[in-house]
Amino acid sequence: MCRHAAWLGAPRALATLIHEPEHGLLAQSYAPRRQRHGTVNADGFGMGWYDPARAEPVRYRRAIPMWADANLPALAQVARSGCLLGAVRCATVGMPVEESATAPFTDGRWMLSHNGRVERDAVRALADGAESACDSAWLAAAVFQRLRAEPDLGEALAEVVAHAGEKDPGARLNLLACDGESIAATVWGDTLFLHRHQDGVVVASEPLDDLPGWQAVPDRSLLLASSEGVRVQPM
Ligand code: GLN
Repeated sequence: MCRHAAWLGAPRALATLIHEPEHGLLAQSYAPRRQRHGTVNADGFGMGWYDPARAEPVRYRRAIPMWADANLPALAQVARSGCLLGAVRCATVGMPVEESATAPFTDGRWMLSHNGRVERDAVRALADGAESACDSAWLAAAVFQRLRAEPDLGEALAEVVAHAGEKDPGARLNLLACDGESIAATVWGDTLFLHRHQDGVVVASEPLDDLPGWQAVPDRSLLLASSEGVRVQPM
């Protein structure tokens, strides 16, 4: 299982998800605390943020361990936005280790990350192709294809997860997606936590610190966060 985290709210730096918290994504890349599958997340990492200068998010991803990128701390300190996504990867056995297999996957304004695994045949029918043979890339392609037909983030995630979960009952399908103004996430086989702050919300595979306020989101649910607040509904 990989680990992912997102922020929606007042503009912040990506370092607030990665380097600043005691158990942020950097610490989770070598010492995750709630990970049930895999021990370290050293097969790549990625992050994305929105800047008014661009219609599409800025994405930075590498197929090396997060701790091995000496340029990352400074970049994460200045990469600021009201909507942020970060991810560290532990490749599933048999999946390629390459940049194009690393989250966040993007299409237009959308970004997506996946914690888990799925039989690729369970999603192939939903997408014409994917940028990598990795199962997560196929899931992302399926979600993006659905979004191009009907741009509702929550519905797209719920539909793809329902379809893939039916075809592959052993699948783990924690997806985290955003569009600059909202976040949608599914909990399907792995952990997800929510932390409400005065000026926004953090959604993460596992808590980024030991401060009070982290709430576990129940399995088989869909989380939606926007400027109107956070909603969690059963799937
Ligand atoms: N199956 C995906 C991959 O190989 C995600 C892995 C994970 O969640 N550890 O990248």
